Amino acid sequence: MSTGVTVVTGGNRGIGAAIARRLVDAGHRVVVASRSGTGPDECALTGAVSMDVSSAVSIADGLSRIEETYGPIGVLIANAGITKDNLLMRMSDEEVDSVVQTNLSGSIRLCRGVARGMIRAKTGRIVLISSVVGLLGSAGQVNYAASKAGLVGVARSLARELGSRGITVNVVAPGFVETDMTAELEESRRDEILGAIPLGRYASADEVAAVVEFLVGPDAGYITGSVIPVDGGLGMGH
Ligand code: NAP
Repeated sequence: MSTGVTVVTGGNRGIGAAIARRLVDAGHRVVVASRSGTGPDECALTGAVSMDVSSAVSIADGLSRIEETYGPIGVLIANAGITKDNLLMRMSDEEVDSVVQTNLSGSIRLCRGVARGMIRAKTGRIVLISSVVGLLGSAGQVNYAASKAGLVGVARSLARELGSRGITVNVVAPGFVETDMTAELEESRRDEILGAIPLGRYASADEVAAVVEFLVGPDAGYITGSVIPVDGGLGMGH
């Protein structure tokens, strides 16, 4: 396992909190970054910092504070993300820009921010949390799907750029997971989605976290540029 600090963005709730908990249990020194600057309850975190991943300045500042306080960053889990759903013809510029800025530009800037230290250390693990929606498409989610599909291009390009430095970059693409994000869905939409999932249920956040734990663990050293679905079969074939 990498010896540096493990940063989980959006690690205070939902999937990110499950990832933070698992990685703490696996022996990582975990620092959670989110706008609120809080960590999940009852979790032996190394630290929690405030960072807004939609802001280049806030990312640079947050990563510097993490490195100054806790040491070099060895693992990045870019998990923070938002949805602002609307049909294309009604989608505002703000809905386009804020989702792409947070989910895609934010992840690129985070990767850039941690890459220098990882290159110096000649080791590092990066996992980007995408979505089945990025591969499958979803009516009313053009902004979100574009941002999540973009992460695949980011990971595969970085896998090529950084592979010779001992750094792996992978994508985890969850299907529908029981979190605040999916709690916002209308009952009829939830039923529709359930009907399309071969396993017939939503994922738990911990089922996503388990795959992330594997990817940053010692057995995944030869896996890079991969897109691993955790979607109950919903996105099969994409
Ligand atoms: P969630 O419960 O809504 O939590 C979102 C997390 O992101 C929070 O920790 C939030 O923290 C953080 N966040 C949002 N905007 C941020 C910003 N600008 N700067 C820093 N942190 C920010 O979401 P979730 O369901 O756990 O989703 C986590 C990731 O998985 C997202 O990337 C999402 O797209 C992806 N995903 C989710 C599902 C699902 O079904 N839930 C499926 C596929 C993929 P603060 O509000 O404190 O900043």
